[in-house]
Amino acid sequence: MKDLRHELEQRKAQRLYRARRVSASPQGAEMQVDGERLLSFCSNDYLGLANHPEVISALQSGAQTWGVGSGAAHLVSGHSAAHHALEEELADFVGRPRALLFSTGYMANLGVIGALLGHADRLFEDRFNHASLLDAARYSGARLVRYAHADVTDLRARVQSSGSGERLIATDGVFSMDGDIAPLPELAACARDNHAWLMVDDAHGIGVLGKHGRGTVDHCGLNASDVPILMATLGKAFGTFGAFVAGDDDLIETLIQQARTYIYTTATPPALAEATRASLRLVQQESWRREKLHALITRFQRGAAELGLTLMASETPIQPLLVGESAQALQFSARMQQRGILVPAMRPPTVPEGTARLRITLSAAHEEAHIDRLLTALEEVFCHPFSELLG
Ligand SMILES: *Cc1c(COP(=O)(O)O)cnc(C)c1O
Repeated sequence: MKDLRHELEQRKAQRLYRARRVSASPQGAEMQVDGERLLSFCSNDYLGLANHPEVISALQSGAQTWGVGSGAAHLVSGHSAAHHALEEELADFVGRPRALLFSTGYMANLGVIGALLGHADRLFEDRFNHASLLDAARYSGARLVRYAHADVTDLRARVQSSGSGERLIATDGVFSMDGDIAPLPELAACARDNHAWLMVDDAHGIGVLGKHGRGTVDHCGLNASDVPILMATLGKAFGTFGAFVAGDDDLIETLIQQARTYIYTTATPPALAEATRASLRLVQQESWRREKLHALITRFQRGAAELGLTLMASETPIQPLLVGESAQALQFSARMQQRGILVPAMRPPTVPEGTARLRITLSAAHEEAHIDRLLTALEEVFCHPFSELLG
């Protein structure tokens, strides 16, 4: 048996130990965390819907109508009219014939790739893809081929040089630790030229990018024939929980028959589906949330440039500040917290070695004054790091 205590101590020594913060308030710009009132820049609640009164009341009245538990898996007796209506509305939203709900994005990625690929097949993935897409390779048994981040030339060389079997190219739409957008038009062309599937995980693009928030595929001017498999999550911009896969009838029916993470798990509560339906209406109707968010992003980028801070190249609400070493990223994060601001340090293995960073995320729940407070704190911590010594 391995010595767990020793391994944990080693992690601590390498500044890779992770600890949870305990929050005592709902999602919002200001949060009560570990007993402190902090201004939060670390949530994926990009549109400020996680604590929206209409979403809350849909959950409450959903519970009145449906109770709490779904009671069983979708294929047994857990598939309610609420789930069914949500699937139809989501399919409509992203302009595809069908959508299928999964309990989480993690399970959706495993489910799709496990249903479509096996040992004889190859899965091509961007190096910076989310862990759940990488884990799907192991789970499916397909051979994983990773290409350099956003480098379609590298991908082409790897796709072309390989033999028979199914080929699937999978990419994040918006990269979760970097905030940049995948080169979807070039990826779609590469997939088409090589008779490969293209799957986009749009966890961070849905709701935020594209017309009415339809996501990264729409933002890039592509459609369902360019990207036949779309996965998106509901726990980020939608402010609720869960995920869905959208595509044509054959894809969705195949998943219903074969995706083990769909079949062998209890359906999410129907009341949650009602809450997501309310949130979907807000996502579509309240364009001002996206407009406000993009204005805040611009304000933040301008302010950071004035301070001489170099942000990573991103036009999305994920605005990371590269630090380098884990210990230093932790120190900067702690100093921000002393100033009442919550920005987490992202460290390996979540990000590559030597690229620890502060992952700043913005939300429509923020106000301009919040962005200005963030900039002031960043100035004190990054531009005048010794000011506290001088008093
Ligand atoms: C958050 C995330 C997931 C996982 O979704 P959950 O619903 O939280 O399990 C998958 N892919 C990406 C890119 C994500 O950011």
